[in-house]
Amino acid sequence: MSNFLPNELVKRLNEQDGFDTEAFNRVHEQGDKITAIRLNLWKQPTVPFEDGKPVPWCDTGYYLTERPVFTLDPLYHAGCYYVQEASSMFIAHILAEIGLKNTASRALDLCAAPGGKSTLLTSYLGSESLLVSNEVIKSRANILTDNMSRWGASNIVVTNNDPSAFSRLPGYFDVLMVDAPCSGSGMFRKDRDAIDEWSLANVKLCSDRQKRILAESLETLVTDGYLIYSTCSYSREENEDIVDWIQTEFTFESVPITLESDWNIEETKSSKHNAFGYRFYPHKVKGEGFFVAVLQKKAKQSTFNRKKIKIEKNSAPSNILADWTEQQAAHIPFMHGDNIHIFPKKYEEDLRWFQQVLYIKQAGTNIGKWTGRELLPSHDLACSIHIKTDLPAQDVTRDVALQFLRKESLAIEDFPAVNAGWCLVRYKGTNLGWVKVLPNRINNYYPKEVRIMNL
Ligand code: SAM
Repeated sequence: MSNFLPNELVKRLNEQDGFDTEAFNRVHEQGDKITAIRLNLWKQPTVPFEDGKPVPWCDTGYYLTERPVFTLDPLYHAGCYYVQEASSMFIAHILAEIGLKNTASRALDLCAAPGGKSTLLTSYLGSESLLVSNEVIKSRANILTDNMSRWGASNIVVTNNDPSAFSRLPGYFDVLMVDAPCSGSGMFRKDRDAIDEWSLANVKLCSDRQKRILAESLETLVTDGYLIYSTCSYSREENEDIVDWIQTEFTFESVPITLESDWNIEETKSSKHNAFGYRFYPHKVKGEGFFVAVLQKKAKQSTFNRKKIKIEKNSAPSNILADWTEQQAAHIPFMHGDNIHIFPKKYEEDLRWFQQVLYIKQAGTNIGKWTGRELLPSHDLACSIHIKTDLPAQDVTRDVALQFLRKESLAIEDFPAVNAGWCLVRYKGTNLGWVKVLPNRINNYYPKEVRIMNL
């Protein structure tokens, strides 16, 4: 038996029929590091690294043979891809299986930071959908906001709420993703420090918290809506037992997901209700430990009073959209303080409902500050997939791109394409942010909060 994995954990896994304890211990001892990225097809149609091999269950996922220093890749900062653990990318396959890929839906990612599942959901649910991406911990909600801004879609709302807040929107969402906080055993190969924190008592604590999170939020799903529940734990108490508990306490049906046999993902059945679950083991798949189950709500769910909320007169100057963005007809501009945001027109009323019951960190894309005369364009606009394509821009070398991303001073000779005013800094055709070209200098507008430090 491995001498560093918790005995209690391995002993329990060993009790499962056909579990290959030796192979499980071996991958942990070897400690191979697997690196995978998922492309943002709105920005990056091909793998920007050599030798990217596809992740079998996600058509935008790729394994890299080596782990680059992502911080030194300008395309990483531009939101061209997200570095994501490969097993988690299975959510893409689930969305296709349950018929939601590119299907207009209202989705909630309840435990969303740092944003791996949310960026995936946004891409796969498509531009006609709306994603509410929520994180309860304030500092993590900031990271989530940055990652969602980089991804560039406008059909998202980032919120910072306790799960219980969503019971104020009963019967609203078509999809609820709960990637629950867990005991983390699935990450032991990657993160050995986490091993010391593992205990059966913590598994129990996590299991109780998972039930609490679900109990407080399931009401927000519409009848026939889907719950996607996942953890990175191997413990039955946080996985199959939670699914059993949902089926005992609420009216949900288990949804089977078709698998290819060579994926080596293990289908499990819960002990009480025979509900399907899907387990990823690092000795069987090229990825870390992961569990996911899909359930469909069958209870008749009442909803809230969707009376028309009077939409206040919008003070955002409407011509601004035409000057700075594409797809103007699909968006409404609205003012938040001095800032102008764009948001999908078809969900305008939904946003009013959210404003009444949720703490919103970001709605749509903040395109910039309105001075009363002109727009000072924001970094989010530079990252937006809806930014106008013919704005003044300068393609720069990798070295200049890194100077820009470190918020260093820039040489005017590196910006020959633009004489004066706002200019997008581009690397390999993708926007990184703004500079302002002045007669004798360049002002670097890269946000200091996200600049590269110490590298
Ligand atoms: N879904 C994320 C992704 O793919 O990038 C990872 C989510 S992580 C597994 C679980 C998240 O739940 C963390 O961001 C954590 O802050 C949050 N969390 C912790 N306690 C919570 C609670 N009581 N209710 C809701 N979320 C909680």
